[in-house]
Amino acid sequence: MARSDPPPLNALAVVAATGEVLDLPGLHEGLLAPWERRRLDRIRVPGRRDDVLAARLLVRWCVARFTGLPPEESGPEQYCGGCRRYGHGRPYLSRLPGLGVSLSHADGLVAAAVGPGPVGIDVEPEGRRPGPLPVLRRLVPEAEAELREAAAAPDPDAALLRLWVRGEARFKAGGQEGLRLLEWTDRDRAAVAAVAGTGPVTVMACGDPASARPA
Ligand SMILES: [Zn+2]
Repeated sequence: MARSDPPPLNALAVVAATGEVLDLPGLHEGLLAPWERRRLDRIRVPGRRDDVLAARLLVRWCVARFTGLPPEESGPEQYCGGCRRYGHGRPYLSRLPGLGVSLSHADGLVAAAVGPGPVGIDVEPEGRRPGPLPVLRRLVPEAEAELREAAAAPDPDAALLRLWVRGEARFKAGGQEGLRLLEWTDRDRAAVAAVAGTGPVTVMACGDPASARPA
C-alpha cells in the first residue's frame, strides 16, 4: 500500500433487540423523514411497527458512528429499480453516495450495517424456521452442495437458516461476485446474523454509552 493511501475502513454492523434501540438516548421517532413516518403509520401490528422504527433508528446510529454525521443527517433514502419509485427498495445515503447501507428487522430483532461500498445485512431469530427449500435454492444458487449438506445436518432448520441469512445478506449487497460474508450467532439475543460487503467488517455492540453520538 502506498504511504498516501488512507487506511482501509472496516464496514460496521450491529445487531440489537428492538427494545434496546428504542431505549437508546438520542434516538426517537422524530428523526424519521415524513415518508418514513407515513410508512410507519400504515403498520397495524404494534410489534412490527416497533421493529421497523427500531431498524430505521439503528441504521442512523450506525451511519452516525461511521461518518461522524449527527443522526438527524444519517437517514437513508430508498429507491426501487423495479417500479422506479422512492420509499422502498434498496436503501442508500443521498449525501454520501459512495457508502453502502443496509438494515433488517425480524420479530423483535433489528440489524444495520454501513460500509465503504455495497453492504447487506440480515438478522433472524435463532429458532425461526428457514424459508422453503425451493426459495432458498434460488437465493443461494451457488451453494447447492452446502444446501444438501445443511438439509442432511442433525439440525437441518438451524443449518438452513444460517444459509438463508447469508443468502439474504449477499442479495441485499447486490449479489455480485467477490462479496465477503461474515455470519455469526448473537447468543444474548438468540439471533443469527450475516453481513456481506467488499471488505472487513467490525461488529459493534449496541447500547454502548456513546449512544447516538459519533465515535
Ligand atoms: Zn418496487
